[in-house]
Amino acid sequence: MRNNKLIVFDLDDTLYNEVDFLYSAYEEIAKSIDVSHWESLLGMMLEMWRKGDDVFLNLENLYPHVATKPSLLSMYRSHKPTIVLSETAKMVLSDLRQREIPMGIITDGRSVTQRNKYLALGLYEYIPEHNLIISEETGRSKLEPFNFLIFMNRYPTFDYIYVGDNPCKDFVVANRLEWKTFGLKDTGRNIHSQAEPVDVDFRPRYWLDSIEGILGYLD
Ligand SMILES: [Mg+2]
Repeated sequence: MRNNKLIVFDLDDTLYNEVDFLYSAYEEIAKSIDVSHWESLLGMMLEMWRKGDDVFLNLENLYPHVATKPSLLSMYRSHKPTIVLSETAKMVLSDLRQREIPMGIITDGRSVTQRNKYLALGLYEYIPEHNLIISEETGRSKLEPFNFLIFMNRYPTFDYIYVGDNPCKDFVVANRLEWKTFGLKDTGRNIHSQAEPVDVDFRPRYWLDSIEGILGYLD
């Protein structure tokens, strides 16, 4: 490898567990619907979610004067989440920052939602805001080269590393652009299933049990 390395991360289920965002959003929604019984309402919502029910439609039916599915969806997407980086993720990001390895994020999602997560997780301590690339803002998903090329133009002659979790979309373009790709194994809390696609192009080059595994590949 060349000496200069750039590490770009996926956000959801890579730097934190997306299910924690869901818990945070559901709590805020439960409090907004029934502030005195929010805990039992939250329990009911989680039960519906685990069964695969349409939680927001059910709430609209149960509380027709308080909630509509679109208003709940909007609250879900725009609320300021209570989420934190794991100690392991913090350790890895601090280590990379100390080594002066530039870092970025490529994430598919809505601008307001992903920016709120970036702020809540304190990621600005490690990753400059201009290196936060969100699909809604560029109009391109991870299945297109555009967002990866932003980094290749910004950091020419670097070795590029992408760390993600979802073999359906995280690695295929990065592989084709000759980035080194790392997949974080699902510890059982991921929102999206990690069933491995048959097509080898879609698989990460390496699987890691934990994000700290990335540090072993840098020397
Ligand atoms: Mg992800």
